[in-house]
Amino acid sequence: MSGVLILGADRAGAGRGDLAIQDGRFVEPADLGPGAEQIDADGLVALPGLVDLHTHLREPGREDAETVATGTAAAARGGFTAVLAMANTDPVTDTAEAAEHLAALGDRDGLAQVVPVGAVSKGLAGVELAELGLMARSAAGVRVFSDDGHCVADARLMRRALEYVRAFDGVVAQHAQDPQLAGRDACCHEGALSGRLGLPGWPAAAESTIVARDVQLAELTRSRLHVCHVSTAETVEVLRWAKQRGIAVTAEVAPHHLLLTTEEVRGYDPVYKVNPPLRTDEHVLAVRNGLADGTLDAVATDHAPHARHDKEHAFPDAAFGMLGLETALAVVIETMVDTDRLTWPDVSMRMSYAPAHIARLSGQGRPLRVGEPANLTLIDPAARAVVDRDASASLSRNNPWHGRNLPDPVVATIWNGRITFRR
Ligand SMILES: [Zn+2]
Ligand SMILES: [Zn+2]
Repeated sequence: MSGVLILGADRAGAGRGDLAIQDGRFVEPADLGPGAEQIDADGLVALPGLVDLHTHLREPGREDAETVATGTAAAARGGFTAVLAMANTDPVTDTAEAAEHLAALGDRDGLAQVVPVGAVSKGLAGVELAELGLMARSAAGVRVFSDDGHCVADARLMRRALEYVRAFDGVVAQHAQDPQLAGRDACCHEGALSGRLGLPGWPAAAESTIVARDVQLAELTRSRLHVCHVSTAETVEVLRWAKQRGIAVTAEVAPHHLLLTTEEVRGYDPVYKVNPPLRTDEHVLAVRNGLADGTLDAVATDHAPHARHDKEHAFPDAAFGMLGLETALAVVIETMVDTDRLTWPDVSMRMSYAPAHIARLSGQGRPLRVGEPANLTLIDPAARAVVDRDASASLSRNNPWHGRNLPDPVVATIWNGRITFRR
């Protein structure tokens, strides 16, 4: 493999300098072989390759919505070099074989590292624990377990999952949503607007009550809990309390919860139907502040592609979920960097180092230093563009940012020394 020489990049907190890559790793520029590709990075910022803790790749089972190839192409365009692939595929990733199969698909088709997330319960049914130990000891080396799409509602099952994963330094990632409080028909945030629109909503408390329970179970079991897609002010408060108490809990926020509010639902456009739902300004401000002060450790996309025939329905009948991989960094720049809430080293922490550490990935979330795996994204912080859903690498078009003027930062993505995206 011929090398890459990146000239004059701002290395996000480590000063300006050249970056040389050979055989998948950073090397001294003097050790670069002949024929290296040169990238002029004057005015650009180099970030460690982004890691997404929460992606739905849809393969196997729903290859009409997304595949490993198209989902990781979208990831590469968004600056990501690794994605954790949620278990709610068909079949569910609830066995060692299923996890190994997905990892092999990633090795074959991926433009980023594909890390399987294992289900907590068999078939995501919330009744019986899945083969957590076998998945952990498999070639896929699963460390993150989640029934995402469903909440592990049974407190005893949640306790047992937490106890189990402790043996191999795993983590249980909870989609926190009390199913009784949320109800079967709810499709948006419960509040004054849902009443006026005649849409059944579910209350913010359906999330924070489960998180309050689970942080106490994490304390009881001395195990690791991760909270998916935090969307409410009360959840941020509970997490702040838990962290002050020394409980091993981490949490993520999705880009759409940093910028969009339930006001989007006024037009009944199902592209804005997502779980957890878009909330109010008060909650948006709380998750921004939580991400700024580190109560929320990571940004994770919850990239949820859907085929047209699943999404293009009346609002109450449409599938939950929106695309996120290609626009995540753009939204973080818009809401967090351009508003002086986060610096570039903070962005590296929230979108690369912290997620890699939470998932215990050894080759990701590493500094841009000689000897380290060459995973990085080169960004132009000043570039902007109008988002065009038809320009997406994803197979799906449920893009809530379509037509919006946003930062358009990613110039190139390099995964293990290989250029996976270049503008
Ligand atoms: Zn979820
Ligand atoms: Zn999800």
